[in-house]
Amino acid sequence: MSFITHLACPECGQTFDAGKIQTFHVECQSPLLARYDVGAIRAKVDRDEITRRPRGMWRWCEVLPVGDPACVITLGEGDGALLHARASGAEIGVPGLFIKDEGTNPTGSFKARGMAAAVSKANELGVREFVAPTAGNAGGALAAYAARGGLRAHIFMPKDAPAVNVAECRAAGAEVILVDGLIDAAGRLAADKAASEGWLDVSTFKEPYRAEGKKIMGCEIAEGFGWQLPDVIIYPTGGGTGLVGMWKAFEELERLGWVSGSRPRMVSVQASGCAPVVRAFESGAETCESWPNAATRASGLRVPRPFADRLILRALRESKGTAIAVSDEEMIEAAHWLAAREGVFAAPEGAATLAAARKLKASGWLNGDERVVLFNTGNGLKYL
Ligand SMILES: *Cc1c(COP(=O)(O)O)cnc(C)c1O
Ligand SMILES: [Zn+2]
Repeated sequence: MSFITHLACPECGQTFDAGKIQTFHVECQSPLLARYDVGAIRAKVDRDEITRRPRGMWRWCEVLPVGDPACVITLGEGDGALLHARASGAEIGVPGLFIKDEGTNPTGSFKARGMAAAVSKANELGVREFVAPTAGNAGGALAAYAARGGLRAHIFMPKDAPAVNVAECRAAGAEVILVDGLIDAAGRLAADKAASEGWLDVSTFKEPYRAEGKKIMGCEIAEGFGWQLPDVIIYPTGGGTGLVGMWKAFEELERLGWVSGSRPRMVSVQASGCAPVVRAFESGAETCESWPNAATRASGLRVPRPFADRLILRALRESKGTAIAVSDEEMIEAAHWLAAREGVFAAPEGAATLAAARKLKASGWLNGDERVVLFNTGNGLKYL
């Protein structure tokens, strides 16, 4: 099953035991990243075997953290469609436009991938109770995976989070605490409770494994393009789990010898009402400053200061990518446009990637010959 060897801090290199519960490196204020015995995986499995396995995220089990298959808690996450968006692509002048549709995941968003990995690994290590702050979809996913595993979830949510997120958490039997403030305020309350009650805090990047689940999106993209990578990936960035995860996946796939060619340019899309990554990218900074009065209907993008800011900015720069903000109006218009042309009813976060692609084509950053993947990270039905 898993070939995980240890965890490491990307800032100072210190290593940590993956057989124990780990959070983040406090001294560096950095996430921990999982490391695998790539040589042993190379010797034991080949990529075609992965392709022959039953669909879903866990067919990549060698590069996921759970050792005992009996500990995996799954709802069938992963392997959302990779669609060639011919009509939209022709219209915006990017014929090689694709949509990776994550809106078909359990609980209606790609948060399912991360929570499946994090809750399963913690389950293996004996954790029974979880806490998380959420702008919306992470709570729904945590509640569902906890329910499925017979575990307890406590969820701190801004009191103006979408009502559907409160409802899905409560339906799954989670405790929901509504907070006066944004996800950062919810995060502080969750961390206090984790410390006082002994619950595991599964906040974005405060534990190492949600990024591992989301990393598999990068593996699926590689496989979907015949073990090469597209030229550009446009990703709606809140905490950056998927962006950092996919960048990590590309490195692992290269070391496995499973992909050839160059890596994609990575693009972060944010909301103009909360764009700390865009601001830091443009100013040349290595970290983000907290965005004051963060406001956007794209709840997944309402993250004033991502904890993994250094890793996000590094991935954007190493890949020769960029960061761009779009307004809520542009997202909503793009969501209708995509639904009408492709039949994909995207979350505003996902639709934001189309709005970004249009702008990048207009500015000449995209020349129109690239293969470009838009990530629709959630189902639009959750936002009605
Ligand atoms: C959480 C979320 C995002 C942001 O994802 P990160 O990996 O945290 O950057 C984007 N879209 C939706 C629908 C989300 O729920
Ligand atoms: Zn460190």
